[in-house]
Amino acid sequence: MTSAAIRQLPQDVADAIAAGEVIERPASVVKELIENALDAGARRITVDVRGAGRTLIRVNDDGSGIEAGELHLAFIRHATSKVAALADLNAITTLGFRGEALASIAAVADVECSSDGARIHLQGGHVLEEGAGPLLPGVNIEVRDLFANVPARLKFLKSDATEVAAIRDTVASYALLHPHVKFQLSIDGRSALSTSGDGDRRRASSAVHGAAVAAEMLEIVGLPLIKGIVSQPRLSRGSRDWVVLAVNARPIASRTLLYALEECYQGRLERGRHPVAVLDIGIDPELVDVNVHPAKREVRFRDENAVFAAVQRAVRAALGGSEPFFYRAPLAAAATSTFIAGGAEGPGHTGLALQDLVTREAPAETALRPLGQIGQGYIVAEGAQGLVLVDQHAAHERILYNRLLARLRDGRGMTQPLLMPAAIDVEPALMAAAADHATELAALGLELEEFGPRSLRITSIPTEMPVSRATKAVQETLAALAENRSDGAIEKAAAELACHSAVRFGDVLDVAEQRRLLTDLEQAEESITCPHGRPTRLLVEWQELTRHFRRNY
Ligand code: ADP
Ligand code: MG
Repeated sequence: MTSAAIRQLPQDVADAIAAGEVIERPASVVKELIENALDAGARRITVDVRGAGRTLIRVNDDGSGIEAGELHLAFIRHATSKVAALADLNAITTLGFRGEALASIAAVADVECSSDGARIHLQGGHVLEEGAGPLLPGVNIEVRDLFANVPARLKFLKSDATEVAAIRDTVASYALLHPHVKFQLSIDGRSALSTSGDGDRRRASSAVHGAAVAAEMLEIVGLPLIKGIVSQPRLSRGSRDWVVLAVNARPIASRTLLYALEECYQGRLERGRHPVAVLDIGIDPELVDVNVHPAKREVRFRDENAVFAAVQRAVRAALGGSEPFFYRAPLAAAATSTFIAGGAEGPGHTGLALQDLVTREAPAETALRPLGQIGQGYIVAEGAQGLVLVDQHAAHERILYNRLLARLRDGRGMTQPLLMPAAIDVEPALMAAAADHATELAALGLELEEFGPRSLRITSIPTEMPVSRATKAVQETLAALAENRSDGAIEKAAAELACHSAVRFGDVLDVAEQRRLLTDLEQAEESITCPHGRPTRLLVEWQELTRHFRRNY
């Protein structure tokens, strides 16, 4: 790759660039230096950090390098090889474009940079030395004593552990977004992250998140616009810190896209649980403005709705390949328990080699055979993959919920008129909710009449709903409607209806009822969780039994 010359930006271009603080903490230095290496086409990027980045940050790459004669130019503010004219800012194809990073870093540290047989040494923004340097591929840059000359900035740094974590997260994001580049991070001489750079994103995820997590990631395939990996519902985290969103392989922060992603997990993850994801939106640079934030963290899309929809299509398609929750022996599960709801008894994956998981076959479509009911309400069944335990309530809830949603789409509910309409007293907010959503409620099979200022009469209920539960169900359904004023209110109401109509934990089911429930469950979409995101079933795979009983010898 031959690079363009480094030139100082004309004033009008410099003025058009989002101004502000670029270097806030050691991780910002790491980010800018990695971006420079990637822009230079590097296939290997090595980052060494000492003293949480305050003592030393060294970044070494094998990219196109900086011409010896231009080395000093790279450290001048607004000097860049990536942008020349105002129009270039409309379609930025590089990670850098401001020509400010190296100047900003040099202003607050001691910097030594070598490339193309030349070397430059700067301190506090001034050149101390310039001369011959080692002849190596790419660029080697060493940043020492960061913020030593700006005590105020130094004071605002967090603990070493926090700064180191931020550095690791930074390197991890780029490693996940650039799986064809080999990243190596060492912290105080110890390897903290190392990717293979072979282009396999799952392998990069394995290096960053661990093999157990990587094995649970679903690949987004067949969509040129969006690339990436998302976790299937049986793996989740208590925080969003393993969600990486990017545009043209540039990590960004976007509440909108985060929402687009998380909405796809609605009904698949419990409240407070979050997916692991790497989503890279490939988009024509003219359709996105990256020049809106000094640290290039935010972007503006020309058509955000289109991007939102594309993200959801891609993620939903990938989630279609989700597998049921399954049981892993506690020893194997322990290592991953922090990632997964339910703690140590939750499912895990550590004991398996990555290859086994990647090539595992899709579940066979053979009917589940009910063997009986245990505990208060688990159905025990045999399936093609092994022993299956079904939570009868969660399973029935999912089946009913899907049926109710289908009715909402058709606009027609299967109702059973109540011979003796039940009257219920409700608060004004619930009265209003009932009136506002009358049509949708009717589509769900629920018909209500006003009966005085603070009371309603239930005239019809969905066919599946036991009459005895109608009053409570209506209360909860209206409460869900009143609480969720905006998006998804009617879906939440449907989930309440489903919950109150479903067989309960503790209800006795005969074999025919068990079989019907299992059949319906197998035909239901998104059937691995109930509408609240709890698992409907647990699979104990044959191979797990084989392993446990040592039948594999
Ligand atoms: P920007 O990346 O916005 O152009 P920087 O201050 O980060 O600004 O870098 C200034 C210039 O130095 C870049 O435009 C590029 O030409 C050159 N440069 C910096 N780092 C590298 C590198 N690792 N490899 C090749 N060229 C580099
Ligand atoms: Mg740069």
